[in-house]
Amino acid sequence: MSKTKELMYKIILAGDGAVGKTSLIERFVSGKFEKDYKMTLGTNIFSKVVNVDSVPVKFVIWDLAGQPHFKHVRSGFYLGAAGALLVYDVTRRSTLESLNNWRSEMLSNTGNVSALVVVGNKCDLDDMREVRVKEGQDYAQNLGAPFFETSAKDGDNVESAFVALARGIIKGKHP
Ligand code: GDP
Repeated sequence: MSKTKELMYKIILAGDGAVGKTSLIERFVSGKFEKDYKMTLGTNIFSKVVNVDSVPVKFVIWDLAGQPHFKHVRSGFYLGAAGALLVYDVTRRSTLESLNNWRSEMLSNTGNVSALVVVGNKCDLDDMREVRVKEGQDYAQNLGAPFFETSAKDGDNVESAFVALARGIIKGKHP
């Protein structure tokens, strides 16, 4: 009986502090949402196997510290990343504007990341929204990346965003 080798990829989540990166990972990995999740300090590494079009893919997910004083330790986070979720918070316009900086920091540390997905998180807070859906869509389209609005709170689109990233990675690596 032939044993299929499991594909394994490192992915990272980049975006300002408190946009919901840790909550998205928690939701994706364990299906849970912790309301008072502590501000991310340092690195958390998670893993999860997902079937993408019947192929098991193991994600090793690195959670980036979004705070400015951690900037000097960030290069290791980017090393070897096959894909990234660029995450902003739909209730704070500044977090969308920051994505260009996150992206250039990532590119200067990795040279190339084969797959990107843009994520507008906290779409459950519609009454506090500062960024229209179309603006996120346009931003992602300019990068040639898929776009999702998600809610780590309700679980909306969280799995879809990670699976789209996996598809993008596999397409890039095994065209
Ligand atoms: P990180 O710093 O980007 O990792 O952000 P966290 O995951 O620590 O989340 C920051 C805060 O936003 C926490 O209080 C979370 O409970 C809250 N949060 C995260 N995602 C959502 C979401 O989709 N909806 C709502 N309403 N709150 C969220």
